[in-house]
Amino acid sequence: MIPIAKPQLDEAEVQAVSDVLRSGMIAQGQRVTDFEQAFAEYTGVDYAIAVNSGTAALHAGLLAHDIGPGDEVVTSPFSFVATANSILFTGAKPVFSDIDYDTFNLNPEMVAEKITDRTKAIMPVHLYGHPADMKAYEEIANDNGLALIEDACQAHGATFNGKKAGSFGTGAFSFYPTKNMTTSEGGMITTNDDEVAKKAKMVRDHGSRQRYLHEMLGYNLRMTDICAAIGLVQLEKLESYTSKRQHNAQLLTNGLQNIEGVICPTVRQGYGHVFHQYTIRIQNRDELASFLKEKGIGTGIHYPIPIHMQPYYQELGYTDKLPVAEELSEEVLSLPVHPQVLGEEINFIIDSLKEWSGTR
Ligand SMILES: *Cc1c(COP(=O)(O)O)cnc(C)c1O
Repeated sequence: MIPIAKPQLDEAEVQAVSDVLRSGMIAQGQRVTDFEQAFAEYTGVDYAIAVNSGTAALHAGLLAHDIGPGDEVVTSPFSFVATANSILFTGAKPVFSDIDYDTFNLNPEMVAEKITDRTKAIMPVHLYGHPADMKAYEEIANDNGLALIEDACQAHGATFNGKKAGSFGTGAFSFYPTKNMTTSEGGMITTNDDEVAKKAKMVRDHGSRQRYLHEMLGYNLRMTDICAAIGLVQLEKLESYTSKRQHNAQLLTNGLQNIEGVICPTVRQGYGHVFHQYTIRIQNRDELASFLKEKGIGTGIHYPIPIHMQPYYQELGYTDKLPVAEELSEEVLSLPVHPQVLGEEINFIIDSLKEWSGTR
């Protein structure tokens, strides 16, 4: 089986975790601080605040911008549900806007049309590792006095005009095992704003800056040193992982682009795509997924139901029609692109798609 995702954990991670366990200091400590510093430096921001999931990073990022009941946050319906759920957690309302066919990301012109006097933030998602149009979102945020929160959970090291995802506004990263780097479970908030950094840290720790003094309502969102130890090792390897993903993506595109009916992912000029997913568009997607499964090729559908159409969101009364997101949710299929996919496996994937296409 060629899996759709597989974390690469070697002796270095095992050793790093053992060292923490042997030290007896296993909660948030020095390793977390070191990981935060290294991640801030890598992303090109002043502050990085480690938390225990990407969801927690989004949630704490929103709270650090004082977003809450009565506020609206414009975001993408074509994402993992955590994107919008994090907005609901704060009591604010997710407002969904439609996406572009080529990048699967929010369309900035449509986002601008969703701004009302209740809008407090916009939350673009750098889906599959292709950055959102951050020039447009910086402008919309500045013109309307909005917070800019980037869901960078799939975009570690991705760039827009040479600047890293997560360094334009307040960034939220995930280190779940399927992501471009992992800490098992984990997340990171990135920002250049010292007020936001200070608040995010308080949200992480029961509203406290000083032990047993609680200035606001917070949570326990802390990362452990065990996780941070893994993250420190993984961060060292991130650039080589990314190169491998980009190389695999290029091989896939070379082999797939001339197959009838397959639409390969594109990379816009000036964007550094880190290929968290390599996602094609195809008719009869579910049939192809079964065909590939028979061959031992794992695939993924990211995502089969847009968020506004999820049962829970239907219950909340969402009646949006977002035609592009709805159409793409029936056509997208992610193929294995992660660093451990071998060249011969890429060829097998290409040959299998050719075979499927030939039988149609
Ligand atoms: C993974 C992911 C999240 C949530 O991260 P967790 O670490 O699983 O909580 C949020 N948004 C997007 C786009 C993701 O891919």
